[in-house]
Amino acid sequence: MSVDIPQPSLRLRIDHAALASNWRALDAMSGDASAGAAIKADCYGLDVEYCLPTLRDAGAEEFFVAHWSEVETAAHHVHASDIAVLHGPMTSQDITYAKASGAVPVINSLEQARRWNEAGGGRCHLMVDTGINRLGVAPSEVGDEAIKTLDVDVLMSHLACADEDSEMNARQLARFREVQAQVDWNSLSLANSAGIALGGDYAFNLTRPGLALYGGIARKELAGLIKQVAFPEAAIIQTRELKAGDAVGYNGEFTAPRDMRVGTVSLGYADGFLRSWGNVDGRSGSHLLHAETPLPLLGKVSMDMVVVDLSAAPSLREGDWLSVPYELQNAAQQSGLSQYELLTILGQRFGS
Ligand SMILES: *Cc1c(COP(=O)(O)O)cnc(C)c1O
Repeated sequence: MSVDIPQPSLRLRIDHAALASNWRALDAMSGDASAGAAIKADCYGLDVEYCLPTLRDAGAEEFFVAHWSEVETAAHHVHASDIAVLHGPMTSQDITYAKASGAVPVINSLEQARRWNEAGGGRCHLMVDTGINRLGVAPSEVGDEAIKTLDVDVLMSHLACADEDSEMNARQLARFREVQAQVDWNSLSLANSAGIALGGDYAFNLTRPGLALYGGIARKELAGLIKQVAFPEAAIIQTRELKAGDAVGYNGEFTAPRDMRVGTVSLGYADGFLRSWGNVDGRSGSHLLHAETPLPLLGKVSMDMVVVDLSAAPSLREGDWLSVPYELQNAAQQSGLSQYELLTILGQRFGS
């Protein structure tokens, strides 16, 4: 078919200058260390094809994905040898793919170390668990022959509580330091976004920001430095005149207290706009925005639509665009979702 596909009635605007500026701010905060970039989960939902060139051009040189299946798209834009796969080699297929692609496995267990060695080894990164108990070799295991045989480029660990003032941070830092003497490595890496804000002790040679690149503010030290990157917008697809007493949406959860004009907007939970944004459980205050004017949500979020009160913006018509308040710290408060969830949940139907 040769006709153009119509543009969807919702779009996600990415502020590339803000994305680049966030990487540079995190790189500067990393001091002598350089900042890499976590680009897993499709750049936290914002589209790796779209965001990775910006991060690369800003200066990022080391990239982190979770799955082997994420390598190919990223490798359209950067060398596979600059892409590390955090889940590591779990199957022989992973090993074959690692060898063929040149992407770098992060070794997370003695099993993965043996598997990599048996396949001939080669450059890898080593994840040591210093307390998050998720992935990683235990400090007590780093003396194992399987680890000694590895060609470790980056020795890394991951902080569990960097977004809190927890004594866990210092404990993990101390454990990470102890392990460094027992492994041959080229460089060291501990800090994620929040870890960068913990200060120079946590930076080592390479930092691994993710959330903050995309506008997340994991600690107060990052506020003011980190800019909003993702701006979801949705169009009004119909306007309606309600009579006092009319009910809106599934289960008629909102009843019009007076005659009022409302707009049906092309945005729903299939797009990542969950019911937790709606006026459920008597919680109110959730809204979409027309410029600075808040337009309250009425009733439940449907799969593809929400309804908003247009009383404050009587000139709005079908086809006009509204913005979703997506400054992540506030949006997290308003929706009850985490900043990570808010980004990664954005659906596939957004245009650009
Ligand atoms: C996801 C991830 C990061 C990035 O963390 P943020 O909190 O998003 O900055 C860094 N390192 C590892 C191992 C990760 O899994």
